Amino acid sequence: MAELVTCGECLVDMVPDANGCFCPHPGGAPANVAVDASRLGLSAAFVGKRGDDAFGEILQAYLADGGVDTSGFTVTREALTALAFIQYRDGQVPEFSFYRSPGADELLRPQDFPPRLLDGAKAFHFGSISLYSEPAAGATRAAADKVRAHGGLVSYDPNLRPALMNTRPGALEAARSAIGRAHILKASGEELAQLTGLAREDQALTYLFEHGVRLVAITRGPDGATLTTSAVRVDLASEPVAVVDTTGAGDAFTAALVTGVLERGLEPPDLEALDRETLHALCQWANRVAALATTRTGATRGIQRP
Ligand code: ATP
Repeated sequence: MAELVTCGECLVDMVPDANGCFCPHPGGAPANVAVDASRLGLSAAFVGKRGDDAFGEILQAYLADGGVDTSGFTVTREALTALAFIQYRDGQVPEFSFYRSPGADELLRPQDFPPRLLDGAKAFHFGSISLYSEPAAGATRAAADKVRAHGGLVSYDPNLRPALMNTRPGALEAARSAIGRAHILKASGEELAQLTGLAREDQALTYLFEHGVRLVAITRGPDGATLTTSAVRVDLASEPVAVVDTTGAGDAFTAALVTGVLERGLEPPDLEALDRETLHALCQWANRVAALATTRTGATRGIQRP
C-alpha cells in the first residue's frame, strides 16, 4: 500500500537541447513528486490520466521505472496527453507554452482513484492544475478530503503557471480555495504573493497559517529555501552544485520534504509544534535533494538520496 499518493497533472515537457531541438521529458509536478519520493525510498502512487498516444506511453514508463504504483493511472481516448514546450529566457528562466485543450490529465474522475488507495495513504499531494476544471477539480478535492478525514497529511504545491492560467477562467480562485485543504504548502515567493494576493511575505504567510496551513516551504531557486511554521522559521542558502537544469527542482524539494516528514513519523498535529532543530534538518535535507536534482537534465534525472 502506498504511503504517499499524488494526483493531478502529468504531461511531457519538450525541452530544448544544446542545438535547440526539443526532446521529450516526462513530467508534471505531482507525477514528479511521486517518482522522486519513490526514489528517496517512500512507497508512492500516482493517480492521473493519459492519452492513448506515444507521449502517454512515455509517462507510463516514467512512473513505472520510478517504482510508482500506477494502478490509478488510466488511459482516455477523449483527449491527448498534455505537452509543455519550454524555452529558457536569458539562458536560465524557463518559459512554458502549454498544449492542452484539454489535456487528458484534466479528465481525471473521482472513480479513477482505486478503492482503498486513499484509505491507506499517510500523505496526499496535489497541485492546482487539476483544480481548474471539472471533473478533475472535484476528484482532487474529494481525494484530499478523504485523506484528511482519516488523519493523513495533505501537501499542496500550487505551481502557478500564468501561461496556462490565462486560458482557464477562475484558475487563481480555484488555486486559492484549495489552501484550506493543505497542511503543507510549498511555493516560490512570487507564487505566494499571487496565491494570497498579498505582496508582503509576512502577510502572505499569516494568511496561510490563518487558513489552516501548518508548514510552509518557500523555494528561492539559487537563493535556497525557507521552511516555516507559525512559530519557528528557518532560512537556508542553496547547496553549492554545478547546475545543469533546474526543471523540477521544486518537485524534488517537495518530495524530500514529504519523505522527511513521514520518515520522522510526523502527523498533521505535530507540524504546528516542530522545533527549530527538526525544521532545520528537514529544510537542509530538502535543499540538498533539490540541489542534486539540478545537476542533471530534465525531470527524469534520477533523484538520489544525498
Ligand atoms: P520548478 O517549478 O521548476 O520545480 P520551483 O520554482 O518550484 O521550480 P526553485 O525555487 O527553482 O523551485 O528550486 C527549488 C529548490 O531547488 C530551491 O529551493 C533549492 O533548494 C534548489 N535549487 C534550485 N536552483 C538551485 C541552484 N541554482 N543551486 C542549488 N540549488 C538550487
